[in-house]
Amino acid sequence: NIRVRFCPSPTGNPHVGLVRTALFNWAFARHNQGTMVFRIEDTDAARDSEESYDQLLDSLKWLGLDWDEGPEVGGPHAPYRQSQRMDIYKDVAEKLLAGGYAYHCYCNTAELDERREAARAAGRPSGYDGHCRELSAEQVAAYEAEGREPIVRFRMPDEAITFTDLVRGELTFTPENVPDYGILRANGAPLYTLVNPVDDALMEITHVLRGEDLLSSTPRQVALYKALIELGVAKEIPAFGHLPYVMGEGNKKLSKRDPQASLNLYRERGFLPEGLLNYLSLLGWSFSADQDIFTIPEMVAKFDIADVNANPARFDLKKAESINADHIRMLDVKTFAEACEPWLRAPHAPWAAEDFDRAAWERIAPHAQTRLTVLSEITANVDFLFLPEPVFDQPSWDKAMKGEPAALLTTAREKLVDADWNDPESLKNAVLAAGEAHGLKLGKAQAPVRVAVTGRTVGLPLFESLEILGKEKTLARVDAALA
Ligand code: GLU
Repeated sequence: NIRVRFCPSPTGNPHVGLVRTALFNWAFARHNQGTMVFRIEDTDAARDSEESYDQLLDSLKWLGLDWDEGPEVGGPHAPYRQSQRMDIYKDVAEKLLAGGYAYHCYCNTAELDERREAARAAGRPSGYDGHCRELSAEQVAAYEAEGREPIVRFRMPDEAITFTDLVRGELTFTPENVPDYGILRANGAPLYTLVNPVDDALMEITHVLRGEDLLSSTPRQVALYKALIELGVAKEIPAFGHLPYVMGEGNKKLSKRDPQASLNLYRERGFLPEGLLNYLSLLGWSFSADQDIFTIPEMVAKFDIADVNANPARFDLKKAESINADHIRMLDVKTFAEACEPWLRAPHAPWAAEDFDRAAWERIAPHAQTRLTVLSEITANVDFLFLPEPVFDQPSWDKAMKGEPAALLTTAREKLVDADWNDPESLKNAVLAAGEAHGLKLGKAQAPVRVAVTGRTVGLPLFESLEILGKEKTLARVDAALA
């Protein structure tokens, strides 16, 4: 049985890199009828927050990425919050110490810095030099007498560590590049280096799929795993697969703090979860050579970690938007209309709740559906229907009113009065005829009508819009523009 985990730390706001990791784990689990474990790595009280924890859960739910074990759903390895598992880590650390796999290290920061500098100057590897590996009882007593409080350090084996990365193939790390590392702070607090592999072991994770930024911790974890197996704590070393970096603007790594990286931004702009997931799945993976729009079930059916590409992926907002637009078009119109609801109400919508006309909304919705890139655009596209007066935008007005629009608007009004208001074609012919009378093509002739009625120079198909707004309001707005 395949078991994967998504194990974020609840710090800050969720970002797209995190979502890509969650998605690849989830798709891999679902494709293989495996188990998705959701674990919260909240061992850093100074940085973790409940708010961030709540956001993580809320984000996964919004995206539709469900989990089989973890917060709220529980499971055989509960609790799934590391802050509630401290006794477990303490116990494992003691076993590691007792078995000689770890040792107390009394070096203080000043000493470490000094020796690191000296090693650098001499061109030697500058990681921890093993100073406290074999302290005599006298040395320990002396340090203790000085009041030093030791950290616990894991003893790396003096041999190369090799593993086969599911994305990058075989990788080998030599001992001088992977020095002994801390697993418990002097105050006894366990570090990521310990808690992450210990929980992966106890939760029987079979595949660790995570970002490339964590690649350097993998040889340490493989060594720790070997110790845990010898101690009977772990059964098997999981397979590791490191997902490629995501590059943002200027070909720099997309940072968590980059505004483009914030998941909330995409939610607020009205990305559909399936549009965003479709896009994010292309960051390091591809569906096929000639198709990049697909549904999430289609992705799951095809997803294999062996197809993930090791090269950095480029984050492209325009492409994300265009994929989202395709997903908006794929919705049935009722679902689309419902999905827009949040943007049709305060605080997004500038009109009063009682001015919202559901029947008019349902009629205009199919016309809007084919034009939106993100759902938040709906507000400006339909405000002319629900605001008592059109938005008055001076530049649009000036642009449309170049030339002699008053004469044209007057003629258009005359023709519109006699048109069939149940037929957009008839309304179009009215404006067409008005244009002809003034030597204007339809495009030029309809611009002042659009601005007079909607306040904008661009928008939904005009004649359908006029029909839905209705004769009375349309003519009143034309009159107001002429006044
Ligand atoms: N809590 C770690 C992080 O968010 C998890 C890393 C891992 O997947 O091993 O970076």
